[in-house]
Amino acid sequence: MENLTKDYLELSKKIPLDDSIKFTLILNLLAVKHSIRDAFCWIAPEFPNKADYEGHWSKFDIECDGSRLHLLILQNICTDLGLEMELVDTRHHMHFSHILIKKTFPKILDSDIEEIEKNIFSEMPTFWISSKSIMNHIKNHNDLHNYEISKILMYPSCCGNWFVDAKTQQLINIIHDHIGSDYDPEILFTSVYARSNLINYCIQNYGEDNPRTVKLNAEMISNAEKSSKKFSFVFHNAVCPNCMNDLDSPTMKLDKKYGDFAKKINLELFEYLQKNSVNTNI
Ligand SMILES: [Zn+2]
Repeated sequence: MENLTKDYLELSKKIPLDDSIKFTLILNLLAVKHSIRDAFCWIAPEFPNKADYEGHWSKFDIECDGSRLHLLILQNICTDLGLEMELVDTRHHMHFSHILIKKTFPKILDSDIEEIEKNIFSEMPTFWISSKSIMNHIKNHNDLHNYEISKILMYPSCCGNWFVDAKTQQLINIIHDHIGSDYDPEILFTSVYARSNLINYCIQNYGEDNPRTVKLNAEMISNAEKSSKKFSFVFHNAVCPNCMNDLDSPTMKLDKKYGDFAKKINLELFEYLQKNSVNTNI
C-alpha cells in the first residue's frame, strides 16, 4: 500500500499529461507491475514506419489526447518499474472469423479472406508494455491476431468474439450484395477473375453505409457508449449482450477488480476515473 502511494506520487510528477490520460496510464502501469493485468498497449497510428526514420523509436514523442508525450520518458518509467516497453512491428492487425464466413460460403479461400483483411484493417504501430516474459511472447509471436491480443490484454472472450462476429457479419453482408441470390460457388470462389472482383468489391465497400449493416452498426455504437458509461475501469468495449445485461458478467468482475485496485492507488485517481471512465486508447 505504501509502495503504491509512493509510486503514484512519483508517476504523477513524471507524466506531463492531462488527468484523463495520466490517470489511465498510471492505473495501467501499476496494474501490470502488480500483476493485476498482464500487459497493455498503445496504438499510435501517426507513428512513422521503421523504414522512414533512423535510430530508436524512443527518440520520438506521440500524441495523447492533444498533448505530446516523449517516448523516452515513458520508456524510463517502465524500466524504473521493472517493466518492458516495445514498439511491436506491423504484422498484427484484426482478423475476421474465417469459420463464420465459411459457414455461409464454404468454397471461399482463406488466402482471399486474408487479402481482404490486409487491405481493410491498416496495420497499426503499437507500443506494448508488460513484464519481460510476456513481452518475449508478444515479440516472438508470428501472427498476433485479435484473439491472441484480447487474451494478452485480458479482455473477456465473450465481448471479443461478439465484436469479431459482428464485423464478420458485415463482410458476409457485403459478399451477399456482390453476388446476389443466384450464383455458382464453383465459379465465384475459384475463378481467378471472379475472386479478384470479389476481393476488390469487399475492400471498396466494407465500412460504407449499407442497408443490411445499418442495424448492426447502430447496435455496436450504442453498446460501446453504454459500456463506457457503465464500466468505468475496463479498457475494452463491453459489447456482448451478456456483459451488457448480466450483473455477474466477466466485464462486471473485471471492472470491480480494476476499480478496487484504483482505489488502493489513490482516491483522487479512483474518483476521477469512476466519474469520467478510463481512456480506452491505452
Ligand atoms: Zn462480454
